[in-house]
Amino acid sequence: MTVDSDESQVTASYLTSDGDVEASLRPKSLDDFIGQPRVREQLQLVLSGAKMRGGTPDHILLSGPPGLGKTSMAMIIAAELNSSLRLTSGPALERAGDLAAMLSNLVEGDVLFIDEIHRIARPAEEMLYLAMEDFRVDVIVGKGPGATSIPLEVAPFTLVGATTRSGALTGPLRDRFGFTAHMDFYEPAELQRILARSARILGVELGEEAAAEIAGRSRGTPRIANRLLRRVRDYAEVRADGIITRDIARAALAVYDVDRLGLDRLDRSVLSALVRSFGGGPVGVSTLAVAVGEEPATVEEVCEPFLVRAGMIARTPRGRVATAAAWEQLGLVPPPDLAVGGIEVRASEPQLELFEDR
Ligand code: ADP
Repeated sequence: MTVDSDESQVTASYLTSDGDVEASLRPKSLDDFIGQPRVREQLQLVLSGAKMRGGTPDHILLSGPPGLGKTSMAMIIAAELNSSLRLTSGPALERAGDLAAMLSNLVEGDVLFIDEIHRIARPAEEMLYLAMEDFRVDVIVGKGPGATSIPLEVAPFTLVGATTRSGALTGPLRDRFGFTAHMDFYEPAELQRILARSARILGVELGEEAAAEIAGRSRGTPRIANRLLRRVRDYAEVRADGIITRDIARAALAVYDVDRLGLDRLDRSVLSALVRSFGGGPVGVSTLAVAVGEEPATVEEVCEPFLVRAGMIARTPRGRVATAAAWEQLGLVPPPDLAVGGIEVRASEPQLELFEDR
């Protein structure tokens, strides 16, 4: 990879996976999976219960921003059950026939993983209801008055759905999952352990302080942590003796222009638009998305959760508002009346759905 002054080259691509290298860094079992202790404990119970009963576990929905380990967890679920994993994604299931073909090939106990399940086409989704509930599908053959419905048995399977947007799932689909786990951003200490593990796998010497430095700039996201580790490794090997010390990590991250919090280009554009173009808000997410030239869904699902968590953006009943930390992050002085004007600043997540402004 070339050294680029725009850190979005290094961080923003957490939306996409890195193929083989990423695969080698995936945790392989629940014990190997670092962080998300509640999700791990709950899943352990769901899987152990099913194993004791000798049946297939309930369908499982994993939600959370990209790069937090949903796909890895789906693979672990299949491995823990000693089952095969079949992978597909919502956008790939454009026609019900695509899903019917996939379902009819399943064998008993298989785990079917559907990534971005909120983007599944309607006819395929309706077929999925029956498959999830009764392990059968009705395949419609022909069109118009001559069309016939042929029932098809599906082997008992476990569906693992992943979504960055659980709120976009229809009620009937959501109700058919027996267990829903929400993956949250990782704490720096957890990312540090993930980095130590990845360094061992990659055969790189990574000092504890260096790991802390990288962890703090990984946007709470293991995929970014691993990506930054590889870029810092390049630097350590080319410009030093290959050992990653704190100073080497700092120097490398400066070259890649990764800021103190690991904010990427889109995060910074959103903050900048909110503060500079809209005077700090309140402004609706759709307007904000237009201002940065992005899809509202990307701003809402990818960018905003982290900025809210970092305490830079607050969601209020009247729209998004920049906090003092956002102004300071941009090197600006927050206006003295920031907290007044009847805007109640909420930085916590649970109430968010109530304030949907799209
Ligand atoms: P998602 O499906 O949520 O986008 P992935 O499962 O593809 O995320 O994870 C992205 C990468 O991050 C994985 O390849 C793996 O290297 C790393 N990763 C994610 N979660 C963990 C974890 N808990 N422990 C170690 N590595 C992780």
